[in-house]
Amino acid sequence: MTEQTKSGDRSRSLTQRAQQVLVGGVNSPVRAFKAVGGEPLMIERAQGAYLFDADGQEYLDYVGSWGPMIVGHAHPAVVEAIRDQAGRGASFGTSNPPEVELGEMIAAAMPSIEMIRFVCSGTEATMSAARLARAHTGRNLIVKFDGCYHGHGDSFLSQAGSGLATLGISASPGVPEEVARQTISLPYNGLAEVRQVFADYGPEIAAVIVEPLAANMGVVPPAPAFLPLLQELTTKHGALLILDEVISGFRLAYGGAQAVYGVQPDLTTLGKIIGGGLPVGAYGGRREIMQMVAPLGPVYQAGTLAGSPMAMRAGIATIQQLQVPGVYAELSKKAARLAEGIRQALAESGVQGTVNVAGSLLTLFFTPGAVASYDDAKKSDTKRFGQFFRQMLGRGIFLPPSQFEAWFLSTAHSEADIDRTIVACRESLTALK
Ligand code: PMP
Repeated sequence: MTEQTKSGDRSRSLTQRAQQVLVGGVNSPVRAFKAVGGEPLMIERAQGAYLFDADGQEYLDYVGSWGPMIVGHAHPAVVEAIRDQAGRGASFGTSNPPEVELGEMIAAAMPSIEMIRFVCSGTEATMSAARLARAHTGRNLIVKFDGCYHGHGDSFLSQAGSGLATLGISASPGVPEEVARQTISLPYNGLAEVRQVFADYGPEIAAVIVEPLAANMGVVPPAPAFLPLLQELTTKHGALLILDEVISGFRLAYGGAQAVYGVQPDLTTLGKIIGGGLPVGAYGGRREIMQMVAPLGPVYQAGTLAGSPMAMRAGIATIQQLQVPGVYAELSKKAARLAEGIRQALAESGVQGTVNVAGSLLTLFFTPGAVASYDDAKKSDTKRFGQFFRQMLGRGIFLPPSQFEAWFLSTAHSEADIDRTIVACRESLTALK
């Protein structure tokens, strides 16, 4: 077996129909496989760590819907929660018990969150948090970091990671110049640059927003001094620190990256895992700041389906699985074993690469040097990644279809799955020579 096995007839026919009616055949750009070539997957069903396409072809899944599926696909407890809620009604447009329960669970997991507001996506969470930070400080500037992705809000699209990195887009048309000018993007882990920007613009900075563990340029952990410096300078200059934990929340640890790295943000944004695969986001933080949001305060933000009981129930059921002692240690152990196996496969095949791993997230970068910033990540040989991706897919293993994304492990990945993946990596890397 070499490159990707061809799609079956049903998948191909559905993809052709999709391309007529959906923009690029997709509803989110990276799904189109543009950076890796080959035929995009048309997935009909998923179970545990496996996806099944429209022709019944099976794939071991390292995308996990880009993060939410930490307990695997169609986990019985999550399925039952969704089924039960569907029978009680999908949405009421009123307060409901599950949103109270999930709000309390999140506040208990992350002590920096005293009050929370649920929204329907990570993008909504970060956009709302930025608006709130601007209202709270009476300032406009937002500082972000190159290669971090905070959703597709106007303020966050310069030098952004994820799909923009994949497609080589540095900024998006349609964002007014006046808005783009209110965002400053600095190198991730760039301590000197952060100090300089606060020296130059301190009194104008509303917020610093950061992925505490960068995962949208591939996985890039924070340098030890990086997050403490952000905490120190935002506090000193009266700006807010927003930790975007849409990926890292309930993934790196039950208490998120803020628990692991000991950072105390003013605001946190969440998504993905807290909705168990249904559309959810949330932002929360200090009571005094959150009280500025309507109806308690003047900062307007609302949502027809916000706090959807179906999504809340899926989130609660997922998070309950993560309360089992040892879950995170087990996830990290699996990821570390996979990372070590890939490193050995690199050494044996003579292909140059670097593996970054943090908790249950990892990335194989096709560059020999350490990857500690977006500039480092961009040195990767993306053509080689595309070849590797297709080799792996041909062996029934679905990796994120971009060099600049994280591989997501779940509790459903077995030791045998990891072993199989290492063997496939060795074969695929050898085939690149
Ligand atoms: N922030 C981060 C860190 C993310 O990874 C993402 C999505 N991958 C978002 C925000 C946006 O979330 P959504 O796609 O749900 O809008």
